[in-house]
Amino acid sequence: MNYKVDYHVHSYFSDGTMKPTDLVKMYKGRDYDVVALTDHDGVDGVYEAVIAGEALEMKVIPGIEIGGSYDFGGQEIELHILGYHIDTENAALKACIEKLRASRRDRNERLLVHLQGLGYDLVYEDLIERPGQDYIGKPNFARALKRKGGAPDNVWELLDSVERERVSAYEAISVIQEAGGMAVLAHPLKTKEIGSLEEENFWNNLDAIVADLKKHSLKGMECYHPSADHDQALKLVVMAGKYHLHITEGSDFHGDE
Ligand SMILES: [Zn+2]
Ligand SMILES: [Zn+2]
Repeated sequence: MNYKVDYHVHSYFSDGTMKPTDLVKMYKGRDYDVVALTDHDGVDGVYEAVIAGEALEMKVIPGIEIGGSYDFGGQEIELHILGYHIDTENAALKACIEKLRASRRDRNERLLVHLQGLGYDLVYEDLIERPGQDYIGKPNFARALKRKGGAPDNVWELLDSVERERVSAYEAISVIQEAGGMAVLAHPLKTKEIGSLEEENFWNNLDAIVADLKKHSLKGMECYHPSADHDQALKLVVMAGKYHLHITEGSDFHGDE
């Protein structure tokens, strides 16, 4: 039997555009067997997705995606860690999410002031896309700038110029584990800071990072993701095998835009 799975999906509780119930309905309609909701730095959509899954008889895995910092030979890089089968009521997880929420708010305030200082006509209300929205990420800034006709060509560079405080990748893995979950390295090929994908050096650097994270209880690697072509995905599968890591597949769906 061919099992259809998507272990990496975002809802409007982070920077996706769809309601969790609509996401589950959509995946059910496309004959998927399993979907994991993995919103950035939060689990607010999980309960709704699980209830929708029960109603539609579709397996929904409670998940999260945490952006963690990682010291790569003195250079700070960002790694995304996915967590699956987490207990969303776990105290350590809740505390970590609260910390991430506060640092995001702080970043958003500073980023808004920065943009206003550069002459962009943007106010806080422009970033809100639906009633009750709590999460505001860089895509909200990008969309708001676009709506107001002021998005520059280098919009992501501009938005990346104001950083926020992160938890470390180790901390992300350990908090996921504490919440009873399994930590997986997301889209390894998006780690642009460690080299160009065409060069062997990239793969050696990635291998070293994976070896280190494995020592810190990493349990899997997202080998199948839109960032990896067929041959690259197979290389990742071989690496996952070398470190006895689970192999996962995710689309990183954010909604049809
Ligand atoms: Zn990610
Ligand atoms: Zn993602």
